[in-house]
Amino acid sequence: MKNSPNDLRIGFGYDIHRLVEDRPLCLGGMMIPHTKGCQGHSDADVLIHAICDALLGAAGLRDIGFHFPDTSPEYKGIDSTILLRNVMQLVYDNGFQPVNLDTTIVLERPKLSSHIPVMKKILAGILKTDEAAISIKAKTNEGLGPVGNEEAVAAYAIVLLHPSSPL
Ligand code: MG
Repeated sequence: MKNSPNDLRIGFGYDIHRLVEDRPLCLGGMMIPHTKGCQGHSDADVLIHAICDALLGAAGLRDIGFHFPDTSPEYKGIDSTILLRNVMQLVYDNGFQPVNLDTTIVLERPKLSSHIPVMKKILAGILKTDEAAISIKAKTNEGLGPVGNEEAVAAYAIVLLHPSSPL
């Protein structure tokens, strides 16, 4: 699809997953050492799910549950980076590519600062952008609510798309 050069699109995504024992903690396409992990049909990578929804929203392509239903055995335990690659393909097919991505992960523990450079590299590779165009922030919920009680991890993402350059 060909879009006009001025057709910029902004998209927002949010996700939350329950934290449970005996699950790996997958965030931003990597495994984070921790005593708990997120529950979910896929690998439950809450950050990648929020990014998928931001991309789909910006391109006007519904949401992650529409494309990858959690009732489908095909997506059981799936690596969410595969879902993100599929979403990026849909974005390209609709004539867009990312300008930049800004995200926030909300969780009490563990500290993510040392893992963020690796996550940025993974996401920049999938989104085909410079790492400088990817922002990942992490903060606690100040002990408040389910996230503050370490019962859940939440993530927010916002993305800007512009029309793809001709090949
Ligand atoms: Mg999710």
